Amino acid sequence: MSTIFTKIINREIPASIVYEDDISLAFEDINPQAPTHLLIIPKKPIATINDITEEDREVAGHLLYVASKIAKQKGLAEDGYRVVMNCNEYGGQTVYHIHLHFLAGKPLGWPPYTDKKKV
Ligand code: AMP
Repeated sequence: MSTIFTKIINREIPASIVYEDDISLAFEDINPQAPTHLLIIPKKPIATINDITEEDREVAGHLLYVASKIAKQKGLAEDGYRVVMNCNEYGGQTVYHIHLHFLAGKPLGWPPYTDKKKV
């Protein structure tokens, strides 16, 4: 099923795109949780981490390669940053097209979550 991220890939809705190659796209998160908050997504629509197949291994690994590349390009590598991928309800996933959150620009707290009451 197609999500809002497919529309961003197809330029049907706007996004602040910071990186693109044949396999992936990176753009600014619309609701940033850090001074730099990017989403790195595969162009292939894979719904969740659970849906990554053997043939997707290169695509999934590529997202980390892009994170490393962007960190260096933006001068964020040395200070450090965090990458996060949420999966399904308990992981807090809201868009069902896998995406690596790239968070940087300030010291980030750990653990990264607050317990949520199940509704
Ligand atoms: P997750 O909760 O891990 O599925 O993360 C989804 C992320 O997508 C959230 O951080 C949202 O702020 C972000 N998001 C949703 N719609 C857009 C959009 N149109 N452009 C950029 N980021 C978006």
